[in-house]
Amino acid sequence: MNQADSQRIQTILEELGWEETSMDQANLVVLNTCSVRKAPEEKAHNQLALLKQAKAKRSDLLVALMGCMIGNQKTIDELSRRYPHIDLFMKVEQADILPRFLEERWTPISGAGCLDIEYMPNETEPSSKPEHLEPVSPTFATSTITFGKRTVLPMAITPKPGERTAHYPTKIEQVSPTAWLPVILGCNKVCTYCIVPYRRGRERSRPVDELVTEARSLVTKGAKELTLLGQTVEAYGLDLPDKPDLAYLMSQLSVIDGLERIRFMTSYPRHMTNSMIERMANLPKVCEHLNIPVQSGDDNVLKRMKRGYTLDEYREKIRRVRELWPGITLSTDIIVGFCGETEEEFQHTLDLLNEIRFDVVHVAAYSVRPGTVAARWEDDVPLAEKKRRLHAVEELEATIAHEINEQYLGKIEEVLVEEDNTSHGRRQWKGRNRANKLVFFPQPEQENSIHPGDLVKVQIERTTPWSLQGCMVGI
Ligand code: SAM
Repeated sequence: MNQADSQRIQTILEELGWEETSMDQANLVVLNTCSVRKAPEEKAHNQLALLKQAKAKRSDLLVALMGCMIGNQKTIDELSRRYPHIDLFMKVEQADILPRFLEERWTPISGAGCLDIEYMPNETEPSSKPEHLEPVSPTFATSTITFGKRTVLPMAITPKPGERTAHYPTKIEQVSPTAWLPVILGCNKVCTYCIVPYRRGRERSRPVDELVTEARSLVTKGAKELTLLGQTVEAYGLDLPDKPDLAYLMSQLSVIDGLERIRFMTSYPRHMTNSMIERMANLPKVCEHLNIPVQSGDDNVLKRMKRGYTLDEYREKIRRVRELWPGITLSTDIIVGFCGETEEEFQHTLDLLNEIRFDVVHVAAYSVRPGTVAARWEDDVPLAEKKRRLHAVEELEATIAHEINEQYLGKIEEVLVEEDNTSHGRRQWKGRNRANKLVFFPQPEQENSIHPGDLVKVQIERTTPWSLQGCMVGI
């Protein structure tokens, strides 16, 4: 989701005539932050400290902070006390404020001792510049922030009635064959460990026609595969007037010529109805992969996490998905070391992994997120123990994934080529099969016969827990 957001900010800036550059060269730094775990937030704090030093040397540097670190007014006040060098606090949905902010705050200065930069919004705009000066675009660096005289925007987390329609910056230049399409923003769940609802607000779906228009535009620019994004993607449409669901949205996207594949993530176990699964499974462009976070294999832990389902309900959902959607592959998210997690409770998570046999497991050690319900509880599993549990999950999953992937040996897979992956002088291509497995294959003898965005047939010759390798056998 954050990558998709950064990509959109980048496009807005490029359309305003700004060019990307390194942090130390930039006139504007946009720091896009993630708060889901402690580690990425600490990284953002480090960057903010570095930017403080940079700004002390270059007072015309603008710094903008966006993303999950921006919560309510209290959080903004705390951040601005700690980092007075932040010029702009901006939620991603407020990206349309950037042009106004830059208009007000960006003062192009040229001359000795100053930055030799002219702001050229677009080529057709009448210019008052002296003729002898060549236009030089101002530069920006996106990382995970933006600032000047501080501009604090209204930060209503929940849109007022009548303002429910999600706004999201839609213009984007596409060069890669795979693109993100955020379809629902925010999250209505109240998992006790999670900061997302406090930072991204309540669920807001983007209207079907807006998404179809954006999808067409992405395909025109070269996208062959779209991943529909949301924290709980199956909640798509519940807040829209006609209640279109995710499967309906997919059917509308499926008719776009040139769009080959549709993916979606992440799923919340309770929202996926049988009807939705059946309709998705019947759409040929929708790929057979489901990311369905379970978080723990123990009912007591799930209760403390306030996940809203029991393990039996989760098992039943997986059974139905596998029955109604042949060939589907599954990935999940697990948190280890949540408050009070005993050794026995943790063992239940390993048991569940052995039982379900996911293709991929994303595992994280629990980290306290201030402001969440669980932050009031004792974080009583020591760090070393969390790490041990995390490695135990990784080790078990490596064995399971290895066994699953071995079943691909000798099979011919349809691969969407994503990029050149030449390493150590050996030219090879990287892509994914429909089941979301990474596939690598060497450049066929005929030079320039493959391009990103091609759909090719690859026969699998070797496997690891994380990827498949083979040879191209056809187009
Ligand atoms: N919406 C999905 C769901 O059903 O939970 C997942 C989205 S969440 C933003 C991404 C993942 O981050 C979660 O699945 C969880 O495993 C992890 N996560 C969230 N909060 C965490 C915390 N406090 N500590 C460790 N991991 C966390």
